[in-house]
Amino acid sequence: MKDSNFLKENNARHFWHPMTSPEDSKHTPPKIITSAQGVSITDIDGHEVIDAVGGLWNVNLGYSCQPVKDAIAAQLDTLPYYSTFRGTSNDAAIELSYELAEFFKPDGMLRSFFTSGGSDSIETALRLSRQYHKLRGEPGRTKFLSLKKGYHGTHFGCASVNGNANFRNAYEPLMPGCFHIPAPYTYRNPFNETDPEKLAHLCVAALEDEIAFQGANTIAAMIIEPILGAGGVIPPHPSFAPMVQDICNRNGILLITDEVITAYGRTGAWSGARLWGIKPDMMCTAKAITNGFFPFGALMLGERMVEAFEDNPAAKIAHGYTYSGHPVGAAAALACLAETKRLNVVENAAERGTQMFNGCQALMEKHDIIGDVRGGYGLMTAIEMVSDRTTKSPINAKSAQVVQDVAYENGAMVRISGPNLILSPSLVLSAEDVDTILSALDAGLSAA
Ligand SMILES: *Cc1c(COP(=O)(O)O)cnc(C)c1O
Repeated sequence: MKDSNFLKENNARHFWHPMTSPEDSKHTPPKIITSAQGVSITDIDGHEVIDAVGGLWNVNLGYSCQPVKDAIAAQLDTLPYYSTFRGTSNDAAIELSYELAEFFKPDGMLRSFFTSGGSDSIETALRLSRQYHKLRGEPGRTKFLSLKKGYHGTHFGCASVNGNANFRNAYEPLMPGCFHIPAPYTYRNPFNETDPEKLAHLCVAALEDEIAFQGANTIAAMIIEPILGAGGVIPPHPSFAPMVQDICNRNGILLITDEVITAYGRTGAWSGARLWGIKPDMMCTAKAITNGFFPFGALMLGERMVEAFEDNPAAKIAHGYTYSGHPVGAAAALACLAETKRLNVVENAAERGTQMFNGCQALMEKHDIIGDVRGGYGLMTAIEMVSDRTTKSPINAKSAQVVQDVAYENGAMVRISGPNLILSPSLVLSAEDVDTILSALDAGLSAA
């Protein structure tokens, strides 16, 4: 390993970072993280902080999770790679498909299609939606519906259903036939509705309007995050997802839940679908599936998909990823699933999540810079920062950076995404860890 001066000098010099400009990386050099243990990370200067980001919503079991590391090492020794394209398979992927079918049985999921991450899982779900309708004699159903503020990854299909202009503009034109419905975002919405339940009904009415306008028989699928994540942690009213499911069912539209964040316990339920009591046709999962230790994803498929694709020689799945069913990823996922169940992480996620949410609400009483606090379902919490509470004008980027920097000095890595400060720590953190995060945040907010 090169010494720390070399690394600092070359930081962001030969390396373009995602989600920022090369210019910004030069002026605000990325923190260089060199090790991690438990729920904490340590930077190149030896400064250790609690990682309130949890990697990137994915290190649910913390950084030290030995069974996952051991499974990866053992798999590398026996079979480091083999493809699962037509004609070959591997033991780890087979076992994982069995375990996932058990795990997601309550959600109505029966099959897995393995991918190398979240975007791949979304892309495959969109593709299989169109193919599903072709197989059933409705080739005109090609359009997709999704929510404004939604985040569904980076591939062109994913970006097309994304509901945030920041991730779209530079890459347009995107895929035609994708339409966006207002999100049930109580703090800001086009209806000026502040009651979450009434807002849910208004959004659902907008969905019905859009379906009538497009023609139901032109729409393949609707994709939603059970709780919007990157868009700023937006939990809908509990009535929302069941109403969406009902409308999709009545109109022959497939329902896809993007559970890249919400699957495997983060919300205090084992999946977002279970949290809201719905049964989607497909569930996209990735991130925590391997605790962030290996790039991997699984698209889960329900009964309608099975009926259309199985016992049908014409139903060829005409795409795949070189790393679909990667044996090392599958072995990591198997160990991860076993640990996730053994530790019953949903329980701690729910308890610590409530503590975090209440703590952030208490901070709101003290800091005018906080416009809104969202969460209350497990360890997904966001603070939306404003420069003025009455006008709700968003905080400027510089002040947001101060919050992050000072929180970091005081012991917690938090994530800034636009005006939102997002907290998505490992699900195994302790009550004291949450207190440390909250007091670091308090310091950051005071400084700004
Ligand atoms: C992270 C994320 C994705 C994209 O996953 P990648 O692994 O980055 O491709 C898709 N949807 C949601 C909800 C996500 O949070």
